[in-house]
Amino acid sequence: MSEGSARILEEAYRLMPGGVSSPARSFRAVGVPPLVLARGRGPRVWDAEGREFIDYLMAFGPLILGHAHPRVVEAVTEAAAQGTAFGATTALEVELARLICQALPAVEMVRFVNSGTEATMSAVRLARAYTGRAKVVKFEGCYHGHADGLLARAGSGVATLSLPDSPGVPPAYAQETIVLPYNDLTAVEEAFRRHGEEIAAVIVEPVAANMGVVPPIPGFLEGLRRLTAQYGALLIFDEVVTGFRLCYGGAQTLYGVPPDLTCLGKVIGGGLPVGAYGGRREIMSLVAPEGPVYQAGTLSGNPLAMAAGIATLRLLQEAHAYARLEALAARLEEGLQEAVARAQVPATVQRVGSMLTLFFTPQAVRNYAAARACDTQRFARFFARMLERGVLLPPSQFEAWFLSLAHGEEEVAHTLEAALKALQGL
Ligand code: PMP
Repeated sequence: MSEGSARILEEAYRLMPGGVSSPARSFRAVGVPPLVLARGRGPRVWDAEGREFIDYLMAFGPLILGHAHPRVVEAVTEAAAQGTAFGATTALEVELARLICQALPAVEMVRFVNSGTEATMSAVRLARAYTGRAKVVKFEGCYHGHADGLLARAGSGVATLSLPDSPGVPPAYAQETIVLPYNDLTAVEEAFRRHGEEIAAVIVEPVAANMGVVPPIPGFLEGLRRLTAQYGALLIFDEVVTGFRLCYGGAQTLYGVPPDLTCLGKVIGGGLPVGAYGGRREIMSLVAPEGPVYQAGTLSGNPLAMAAGIATLRLLQEAHAYARLEALAARLEEGLQEAVARAQVPATVQRVGSMLTLFFTPQAVRNYAAARACDTQRFARFFARMLERGVLLPPSQFEAWFLSLAHGEEEVAHTLEAALKALQGL
């Protein structure tokens, strides 16, 4: 690392815990100093020294069009010139709400918030209010933001740093969360048999992306739909990652399973801070001021974020956007599988749409226990070697690589060449 980044990092460590504003950025699990990034364009980023990287971190998911897409930059610039916040309804907000409700079959009304964490926290509150019950079922290795009750055995940075469930969460909160293995419908059936009358909701990442990419096994989501309906609990799909990522209508369209409530974030803000939760009118009508469930936000529905989101969704509506993502991601997946086989490294590639993970384990990963069995030291060496070759991966075994519409054959070819070299003798 040259001096510019080193100086910035030194000050960052002094002024901010771990030198970061979010733990997953710290590179702790990969044993190299974190990057200080200065600029991004399309599929690439540049650090403070001007070193260039092909980016698969992609800001942890929002940038489905790539960095600084001209139409998004233009939309944000235009919105900023009109005023950055009002504390009142704007046409932009209504427009993004309309696009979301048209796209997602299970969303009739939506409330904007500022992050995915707020979306899941608010959806759980709403589910509890609607059902008059307290308990929530979540799955090991799924991450739903950092609200108290949802941190139990969470994926993402909590998994990366091997943290126990966070101190500071009162036991009384944690007791209301039932944590089960992902893809294990029998465990869910058992939980409902024992606690059916007390369970307000099941919250799930319909494709898990925070223990690495783990798809639902056939019947899992359908089973959750059936059991929640049978016991009068709500099914919450946390589509913060998958919404507008896997296809325009999200995982609920891809798998044909309609949840009661949907949480969104990332892509719907086009890289600006945003989140949202929505669902059937009958449930959403309980949200204040229409109903008694309180939830609010000074900057919620912020015009800059709304403008970026609208520009992004409009571009995603253009012909073949998802087919292009799928084709390129399939090419990357196949190439990585070939490289793994040639280098004779025990590893498995798992992909759904434009997100994938190279797991350093020979078996398919179906749940958190299997993800945890990966060789994270090997991942760390792989990450460092890829970085040396100009490819920035998410800095953890337990995160998804994201492709964007700005990635092309050239980037994938460079990545595969780098991957083959990095995997050899790993
Ligand atoms: N849900 C999921 C599935 C996520 O991946 C994340 C963040 N990566 C969140 C919720 C929380 O979103 P935020 O970081 O915007 O609070």
